[in-house]
Amino acid sequence: MLEAEENQGVVYLIGAGPGDPGLLTLRGRELLMQADIVVYDRLVHPAVLDYARPEALRIYVGKASARHTLTQEEINALLIRHAQEGKRVARLKGGDPFVFGRGGEEAEACRAAGVPYIVVPGITSAIAAPAYAGIPVTHRDAASSFCVITGHERDDGKESGRRTTGSAEGRRDWARLAHAADTLIFLMGVEALPEIVARLQEHGRDPQTPVALVQWGTWPQQRVVSGTLADIVDRIREAGLGPPAVCVVGEVVRLRERLRWFDDPQRQPLFGKRILVTRAREQASSLVELLRIRGAEVLEYPTIRIERLKDTNELDKALQSLNGYAWIVITSVNTVPVIAERLEALQLDARAFSMTKVAAIGPATANALREKLGIRADFVPTEAVAEALIDQWPDSEMRGKRVLLPRAREAREVLPERLRAMGAIVDVIPVYETVAVKLAEAVVENLMTGSIDAITFTASSTVKNLMQALSRGADDLEVRARLRSVCLAAIGPVTGQTLKEYGFEPTIVAEEHTIAGLVKALESYFAQRD
Ligand code: SAH
Repeated sequence: MLEAEENQGVVYLIGAGPGDPGLLTLRGRELLMQADIVVYDRLVHPAVLDYARPEALRIYVGKASARHTLTQEEINALLIRHAQEGKRVARLKGGDPFVFGRGGEEAEACRAAGVPYIVVPGITSAIAAPAYAGIPVTHRDAASSFCVITGHERDDGKESGRRTTGSAEGRRDWARLAHAADTLIFLMGVEALPEIVARLQEHGRDPQTPVALVQWGTWPQQRVVSGTLADIVDRIREAGLGPPAVCVVGEVVRLRERLRWFDDPQRQPLFGKRILVTRAREQASSLVELLRIRGAEVLEYPTIRIERLKDTNELDKALQSLNGYAWIVITSVNTVPVIAERLEALQLDARAFSMTKVAAIGPATANALREKLGIRADFVPTEAVAEALIDQWPDSEMRGKRVLLPRAREAREVLPERLRAMGAIVDVIPVYETVAVKLAEAVVENLMTGSIDAITFTASSTVKNLMQALSRGADDLEVRARLRSVCLAAIGPVTGQTLKEYGFEPTIVAEEHTIAGLVKALESYFAQRD
C-alpha cells in the first residue's frame, strides 16, 4: 500500500539476510526493486544489490568506506533527507534489521521526522550461520531454548572500532547470561571471545561445553572452527579465524558432526568454487540454481541479454493461423515467453496449437512449454542440438508441409535448410535477439585476481559475446592470458568448437549436452582435481 503512493517518500528497512543472496526475502526483493536509493552496509552480498534498478543510487555506509565517518545520526539524517525529497529509500542491513542492526534507532528517527517506513525482517546470521554449519540452534534432545547475545555491550553493527571495552563488559550480568538459555549465540564476539569463555566458565558453564565459531556463514568462504569452552580460544588463534563470525555455545554444536552439509566437500562437490555463468539473465536460473545447491558461488554474467523484437507482426500472423502449420519448432527457452505473451495479446490460448505438432530442442524448452503454455512437446531429440533434432526428426513425410520456426535473429541455418531439403515450407520468424552486454568490471577484476575457478558456456553466442566484450577492454591480452588458467566448460561440441575458434581449448565438453550434464561434468572435473 505505502509503496504505491505517488510522490510520497518512504524508508524500507530491509534485512538482506546473512550473505547467501538466496536468503533475501521475497518482500525484501520486491521493495528493493522499487527503490530510488539504496543505503547499505558491509556484510550485504553484492548480488543482493543487483536487484535494485540500475539507475538507483547506491550509497555504502559500512566501515572502510569513504563515508566511514558517518555516525548513526548522520545515517538517520541521510535516510530522512532522501525520503523527504519524495524518494523511496531502501535501507539494506545484514541479517535482520532489528537484531543488533540499529534498525530500531533508524525506525525511531523516521517516526520522529514523520517519514513513513516499512520493516522487512531478514534471516539473521544468529540462526543462519549455525544452520549452514549444520548446527540447529534448538533440538529435541539437546536444547529447548536459545539466546542471542552481543559480544559488545552496545554496538553499531560494524566490526571493532567502536568497541566499548572494560567497564561496559564488566557491567554485563554474566551470572544471568551464562544460564540464559541452553544454546548461547554471540554476535560480534570474536574479539571478546577470551572474555566470553572465561566468564561463562566462571559462572558455572562446564568447560567441556561444545563451542563453534562460524565465520562468513552462508558465504562461499564459510569456515567453522569447533572446540570446547576450555580450548576454543587456542583453536581460533591457531586457525587464524577472525570476524565476522557467530559463536555458538551449547550441546547442539555436536550435531554438526552428523548434520554438516553446506561446507561438506563430500556433499557439496563445488563448495567454495567461484563459477562464472555466461548466459542471458532470463535463461540463467536453472544452471545457477544447480551450481548453487552444490555449494558453488555463482557470478552471473549476462554476456548476452535477450531482447524481444518490437515488431511482432509476422509472429502474430503466424500464431493466428497456426492451423496451417503442420509443425512448430521451438529451439530455445527464450522463444516460449514471447509466444506466451503474443498469444495473450491476441486473446488466444493453447488451443491455437491443436492442429500443430510441437518440436522442442531439449528438455528445458519442453518444460518451459509445459509450464508457460500448458503444451506437451510431441518431439524432443535425445541431444539438445539442431543436428540431433533434424537427424531424429519423427515425421518422414514432410513434402509440402508447413513448418513454423520462431527463433533468434542470428541463428544457424541448419534447421531451415534441412527441413527445406525434406520438402517442407519453412517460415523462419525472428522473435528475439541476443545483445552483448559490457563486461562488468567486477568480472574482469575477479579474472585478474585469479579468483574465478570456472566459466560455463551454454551456447556459441555466449562464447562470442564474452570474447567480444573482452576484446573491447584495455587489458585484453592480460585477461586472455588469465582465461587460460580457468576451467572453460562448454555444454557441447558446437560451443566447444567456438571456443577453439577463439584460440581457447575447452577444459570440459559435457558429454550430455544439457544443463544437468554440464553440472555433472564440472563436478567430476573438480572432484578429480582437488
Ligand atoms: N543484523 C545482523 C547482525 C549485525 S551485527 C544479523 O541479524 O545477522 C554484525 C555481526 O553479525 C557480526 O559481527 C557477526 O557476528 C554477525 N554476522 C553477520 N553476518 C554473518 C555471517 N555471514 N557469518 C557469521 N557472522 C555474521
